[in-house]
Amino acid sequence: MMDMAGSIRNGQGRQAALVAACVMMLALALPLGPARAAEPVRGNMPAEVTLVHEPPTNPAHQAIHARVLGDPTFEGARRFFAAFRLNRPLVIRTRSCSGRGGAWYYEGAVTVCYEYLQNAVDNARSDRRPDWVSEDDAIRGQFADVLYHEGAHALIEFLGIPLFSREEDAADTMASFAILALFRQDAPALINGIVYSYLVDTGVRNFSELPSLESRTIASRQYGGAHSTPLQRLFNVVCLAAGSDPASYRALVSRSDMPAWRANGCEEEYKQVAHAARTLLAPHLDREALQRHFPGAVWPEAAKR
Ligand SMILES: [Zn+2]
Repeated sequence: MMDMAGSIRNGQGRQAALVAACVMMLALALPLGPARAAEPVRGNMPAEVTLVHEPPTNPAHQAIHARVLGDPTFEGARRFFAAFRLNRPLVIRTRSCSGRGGAWYYEGAVTVCYEYLQNAVDNARSDRRPDWVSEDDAIRGQFADVLYHEGAHALIEFLGIPLFSREEDAADTMASFAILALFRQDAPALINGIVYSYLVDTGVRNFSELPSLESRTIASRQYGGAHSTPLQRLFNVVCLAAGSDPASYRALVSRSDMPAWRANGCEEEYKQVAHAARTLLAPHLDREALQRHFPGAVWPEAAKR
């Protein structure tokens, strides 16, 4: 399944149009639908997950290439997906994309373009970045979000996970749940970084600027996309975080001005997602490997059969 998260995150215009066109061409060639879901690959072997940071073809990407070499966020994602028992290898690749700044999953490979990663770094370094998120957390949060989101597409395909709603929403939810479960103490900092990235996607840098957008019309085509809008994605991750640990995220919920009728249901939203993680993911997870690499991780145990 392709993904145009990057094109949306990097804004509209020619760059987004190029990625969208790329998505459409490949989507036509993909054997999606029942054939894919009917042949899930379930195995007993640890997944072979490889990081490949290709040398950039664009000299402007030398700095971001050097940054991702040995980046612990990438290695963490590799170890997380390697903790699943799968019979197919997964590659997580970074590379120059000829100006297309996106990220996607396709046929056993996650690809994240250097353009996308550089854009995250540039946004983090903005002098308009609010003081509730540090430069480092803004970068780590967006790096983690894109890696766990695209890797979630791989799990959905490899494990034949059934979906009642859009795969993009499921990938968002799986990514947020994984980040909350794996990083515990560090998660609030990463969630701040993710929230900031969605504010940037929305066209602002802080919550206080959102009212200025309320009279703006969003392009109708955006509602027709596979992803939820950036603000919906933002509130979804805030709600899931708040549901996982209300005390740790109370300030974020307040800052976001989430409607009380949504906020009051976040613990229930989190329970539903934890049930899905327990039912659909935990049976394929090597808990010892997970605990070895993420000592503080709290992942729901597989239901007894
Ligand atoms: Zn996606």
